Amino acid sequence: MFQQLVQWFDAYADAPGVDEDRSRHIEWTRVLPFVLLHVSCLFVLSVGFSWFAFGLFLASYLVRLFGITGVYHRYFAHRAYRVGRVTQFILATFGAAATQRGPLWWASHHRHHHKVSDEDSDPHSPVVNSFMWSHVGWFLATGNFRSRLELIKDFAKFPELLFLDRFDTVIPILYGATMFFIGYIANILFPELGTSGLQTLVWGYVISTVFLYHMTFTINSVSHKESVGSRRYDTTDHSRNVWWLSPFTFGESWHNNHHHFPASARLGFFWWELDLGYYVIRTMAFLGLASELKRVPERYLHPQAATAAQPPAPDAIAIQELGRTPEHGSTQHRG
Ligand SMILES: [Zn+2]
Ligand SMILES: [Zn+2]
Repeated sequence: MFQQLVQWFDAYADAPGVDEDRSRHIEWTRVLPFVLLHVSCLFVLSVGFSWFAFGLFLASYLVRLFGITGVYHRYFAHRAYRVGRVTQFILATFGAAATQRGPLWWASHHRHHHKVSDEDSDPHSPVVNSFMWSHVGWFLATGNFRSRLELIKDFAKFPELLFLDRFDTVIPILYGATMFFIGYIANILFPELGTSGLQTLVWGYVISTVFLYHMTFTINSVSHKESVGSRRYDTTDHSRNVWWLSPFTFGESWHNNHHHFPASARLGFFWWELDLGYYVIRTMAFLGLASELKRVPERYLHPQAATAAQPPAPDAIAIQELGRTPEHGSTQHRG
């Protein structure tokens, strides 16, 4: 038990290997902070509501949503664009503030998902396992706590990223404290706002984080679930495009598009597919912070064209590293 308490603060302390035997075993002491965060949402009953706290909830959600989709996913897992080293670190802290563990843990497990999606060894397939397991069970399992550093050597070479990954509660604690002090100071300067430090902590961190959890998790659960959404591309997995989740997930839910061509910076492949995460990346590029945004090859944008026989796109490097090309048994059809 002591070891599990240490692991709350040092994720690398005796972290068990990715271990098939233990992959479904949950040690409840280890995952207690995750459970308590959910229970803490009830504090909303005592801290109450103010528009200031609600605004902070929204802003905190949107910034960290980009930290997950734009940074942990599109940048670290798929290298869909390039940034400088300082920007890379700052962006990584946005993702870390979402309290979904470190960048290397998140991106390496996601690379593994692309390698084996909806096969037996996929840790979070709702087709192979239950819906609840794909949504919330798999990452609580002891066997999935270790960062799969062998799958993310390209970023594991940066000590500052290793630090964020190993001490993955540092940024969340600093972030939560910031949320508290925003309300605390706002209450002193503008008492008419009717807020307090505890209120902004609950809305800006606790509720916002839990809401972001479950929106993120829908990509693993709902967006791989048959009978929800639609499929444009005949990928080897069960990924779906779920339009009604796209505003809440900054475009992540164009998940069938994404499994067909994972290297793209853009997940909504067509102008009518709302992809706010991509617009943020485009804005970063406009400001000179990001470059080399990977594009969807033209041939995937003509649904009538069969793609199975075509060679891999030269810009699909990140996917080839993962051992699966977008053409893997894939033909296109309208979803
Ligand atoms: Zn997927
Ligand atoms: Zn992906």
